[in-house]
Amino acid sequence: MNNVVSLFENPQKEEEKPIVVLADDDPSIRLMVRHVLESEDYEIVEAEDGLDAIKAVEKQHPALVLLDAVMPGLDGFTTCQQLKDRGHIDVPVIMLTGLDDDASVERAYEVGAIDYITKPIKWAVLKHRVRSIVKSVMAERKIQQLEYRDTLTQLPNRLLFVDRLEQAIVRAERHRESIALMVVDIDDFKLVNDSFGHEAGDKLIKAVGDLLSKSMRRADTVARLGGDEFAIIIENVDGEDDAISIADNVTTILEHNVRLDNQETFTSASVGIAMFPDDGADASTLLKNADTAMFRAKEQGRRCFQFYKAEMSVNAMERLELENSIRQAIENNELVIHYQPTIDIHNNEISGVEALLRWQHPEKGIISPDDFLQVAIESGLIISIGEWMIKTICHQLRVWKDAGMENQNVSINLTAKQFKDQDLVSAFKIALDEHQVEASELTIEVTEKTLISSEGEIEATLVKLHDMGMTISVDDFGIGFASLTNLKDLPIDVVKIDDAFIAGVPDNEQDVAVVTAIAGLTRGLKLKLLAEGIENERQLNMLKGLGCQYAQGFYWSKALPADQYEQFYLNRFYNLG
Ligand code: GH3
Ligand code: MG
Repeated sequence: MNNVVSLFENPQKEEEKPIVVLADDDPSIRLMVRHVLESEDYEIVEAEDGLDAIKAVEKQHPALVLLDAVMPGLDGFTTCQQLKDRGHIDVPVIMLTGLDDDASVERAYEVGAIDYITKPIKWAVLKHRVRSIVKSVMAERKIQQLEYRDTLTQLPNRLLFVDRLEQAIVRAERHRESIALMVVDIDDFKLVNDSFGHEAGDKLIKAVGDLLSKSMRRADTVARLGGDEFAIIIENVDGEDDAISIADNVTTILEHNVRLDNQETFTSASVGIAMFPDDGADASTLLKNADTAMFRAKEQGRRCFQFYKAEMSVNAMERLELENSIRQAIENNELVIHYQPTIDIHNNEISGVEALLRWQHPEKGIISPDDFLQVAIESGLIISIGEWMIKTICHQLRVWKDAGMENQNVSINLTAKQFKDQDLVSAFKIALDEHQVEASELTIEVTEKTLISSEGEIEATLVKLHDMGMTISVDDFGIGFASLTNLKDLPIDVVKIDDAFIAGVPDNEQDVAVVTAIAGLTRGLKLKLLAEGIENERQLNMLKGLGCQYAQGFYWSKALPADQYEQFYLNRFYNLG
């Protein structure tokens, strides 16, 4: 479905008047009461008998009910009793009656009335009593509203949601029914905030809340848990199939082109489902498991739903622990950069260094990014890690320049998530400026895989960085090398052949064929070629023979801490000099 929803269609409702339900079979009394209360700015809803009064209360949720004790059909006492039995305990009832014997008064309080006014009614008393009760009910409701409702969407907040879920569990246990709990999180919502502003983001959250409420049955609870996360309780679900069709519906209705300030953007959501009783016996377990399933839906590529599966929790816990330790690593300055030199194999000089992230764990020692990068990317922590790397690298370049190490060039690896961050270019500008370093001293490395899966959002940023003077290098090249011809439209300067191919050179014929083809194509496109993973002379000679100019690998050096790289540089410099 590809509906376009405008987020500017729903003007705020005016504040509603308090409603007073007045039940009396005598029209003249109703007329008089209406007349007396008219000046108070209430909405008066009249009922001729008890059943009418119950209907009005169910529909209107009034601030007060005035009940005549003696009416045909259901009398006032029974009506009051039924209202309380149906759960309307927060709607106060005043009994109006000519019966002022002790037993009647007693009975009125027993069935749940809060007050008793005898006929003939003293109008001033009625007016003041009604005024003070309505005032306190409305004040109480306002407090409840603030405590239990989300102010942006007016939906139940997490507090009320958990309460409703607990009640639903009690009912489901009693009737041996199932509940589906769904956690719904908008995909890439931060992009909306970043591109259109926080206010537009708020409107989208509100629109999603409205769409969800409208698509559910009245009895289902839709709540905003916080941020861009919503939750839905669906009671009396008929097994997983029923839950699937509801979840399918939820993901479909949230797939919209949304118009924000005359621009259209696409929105979608990921849904995690936990079922009662199979996936948890209490509210907090169910919520935790639905959340885990939602994360799995995000991992599966978003725009889909996932059921909770028990084996998820181990992975999810490990993931969460890792995410927390990465956060701590950033705070405790445990992240460090190692530098691996690249060599110009034509003249045997150092042509630059690749900055490689390492985690210096206080107990586990050096941890490679392979073990934590994926979680850093999924959790968004990669953005702050990247910003830290950019600053550190620019600072390092400054230190090296000041020490007389000229012509250094540092390359930095960027992930798709970083390219999509609106602040990436300015992070570079600020760091370059602060350390008085030239953009031409930096190389951006982007993997071939990232480029292939990009839908245009990476190219624009690459062009900006290239225009600033940075070199652009395509990393891990070879696997999807059919796309090589597409490179001519991109601002690419260097191609790095994936070390998996270099490993097979010169003995594996297929690898040699791939490397030869890449060398030929890069020559044709006038791109520089860099071979990664050179470990021995045979590999080096073969690549030299193919016209490759740059290389990197253990043959020269592994990635080194900054001070050890300085040593490496000086040794080579003096040996060559
Ligand atoms: P993902 O697809 O993984 O869900 O990524 P996402 O971009 O949607 O990010 P995520 O759900 O992790 O974070 C939601 C963001 O919503 C974080 C915060 O910046 C923003 N946010 C939280 N509350 C509000 C709010 O009340 N209004 C607005 N406009 N933004 C909010
Ligand atoms: Mg989100």
